[in-house]
Amino acid sequence: MAALPLKLPTIQNWSCHNCSGCCRQHAIAVTPKERDRIEKQNWPESGEIPADQPLFVPTSRVPWNKQYRLAHQPDGACVFLNEEGLCRIHAKFGESAKPLACRVYPYALHPAGKQVTVSLRYSCPSVVNNLGRSLDDQRREFKKLQAALVPERADQIPPPKLMPGTQLDWPDTLRVVQALDQTMAPKGTPVLLKLLRALCWIDLVRQSRFDRIRGERLDEFLEIIRQSAESDYAELPTDVEPPSRIGQMQFRMLAAQYARKDTSTDLEQGLRRRWELFRAATRFTRGTGTIPKLQGIFGDVEFSQLELPFGTLPERTDEIFTRYFRVKIQGMHFCGPAYYNVPTVEGFQSLALIYPAILWIARWLAATADRGELIDDDIVQAMTIADHHHGYSPIFGWFGFRRRVRNLAQLDDISRLCQWYSR
Ligand code: SF4
Repeated sequence: MAALPLKLPTIQNWSCHNCSGCCRQHAIAVTPKERDRIEKQNWPESGEIPADQPLFVPTSRVPWNKQYRLAHQPDGACVFLNEEGLCRIHAKFGESAKPLACRVYPYALHPAGKQVTVSLRYSCPSVVNNLGRSLDDQRREFKKLQAALVPERADQIPPPKLMPGTQLDWPDTLRVVQALDQTMAPKGTPVLLKLLRALCWIDLVRQSRFDRIRGERLDEFLEIIRQSAESDYAELPTDVEPPSRIGQMQFRMLAAQYARKDTSTDLEQGLRRRWELFRAATRFTRGTGTIPKLQGIFGDVEFSQLELPFGTLPERTDEIFTRYFRVKIQGMHFCGPAYYNVPTVEGFQSLALIYPAILWIARWLAATADRGELIDDDIVQAMTIADHHHGYSPIFGWFGFRRRVRNLAQLDDISRLCQWYSR
């Protein structure tokens, strides 16, 4: 079967700038074949890695399903990362000798009907900063990744539900996705305004029945509700209403999950780490006093400090967030198999919540540096922290997290939170 055409987010550039952040943060799972290949590279004999340093760590010891990941050095870096921050496997045997997970990052390929969409992970600072070659110029590399990653008959994978009880076919699902992208596209419109409009019409979708609205009629329906949202939100609201008290508490819990750092070293701390997280969770529920430090980059800051106005958002905010949302939407990186099999409507609400979560984390970084306003670097750093989890940390697909997103949507607090942390 011929490979499905690739849909690349042409608004995004990326090349690796060797910051080695990914080789310090991620747990790299290896297949039996990759493990075998790396073992044959004779690292213990090379003298480049201490002889007593294991190369792999088991992640499942079940005899019929043994699984492994690459081991880490005592400072948390991958066992193959050298002193210059470069990959030893890459340097000695070439890029193709590395595990597939290393070669794919920061890309994510998702089959979507008769095409394969490409998204990116904004945990990489070069992605957030849009640095490097245009993705359009990298089609050949993508073809290789597609051959390695996308299964045969990927066009048979069903689309995500629109919402519980409503399943559209792929062409209609992509109509909704395209309408979301169009809402987020206009240049010169503040990203907050675009987000409020998108949240408004996706809520109208949630309240509608789709028994007979299909094909071109769906296009007409989406156009009508998009125009209605645009007239409801012709401009940014001047009065910012605070989120409800329950909404604030639910949001703090959600923001805490985005602000965490779950490297393999953290996870290996087992019971101690779990006890620390439990104690932090109770303090996030209360929301008073000093915010428990979820990772070393955060300083001692009071919860109340982050609720004060921080003034105008920094210059690059609109560009960075617009690109972020459009890449995630175009790449189908917010619903379906790429996002815990969440339906499209709920997936977009979850994606929208990352906006106030990133601004909340950015405020924490600014307050740590004794600043009462945000700078571009706060946004960039906060986005790398938050997007590390989005679609990858299993906890985000659990019932508790999903219920939190649904509660915030029902309380109409998602748009209030977006406005509250933009001021
Ligand atoms: S194998 Fe190489 S590219 Fe992969 S995480 Fe380790 S150092 Fe980084």
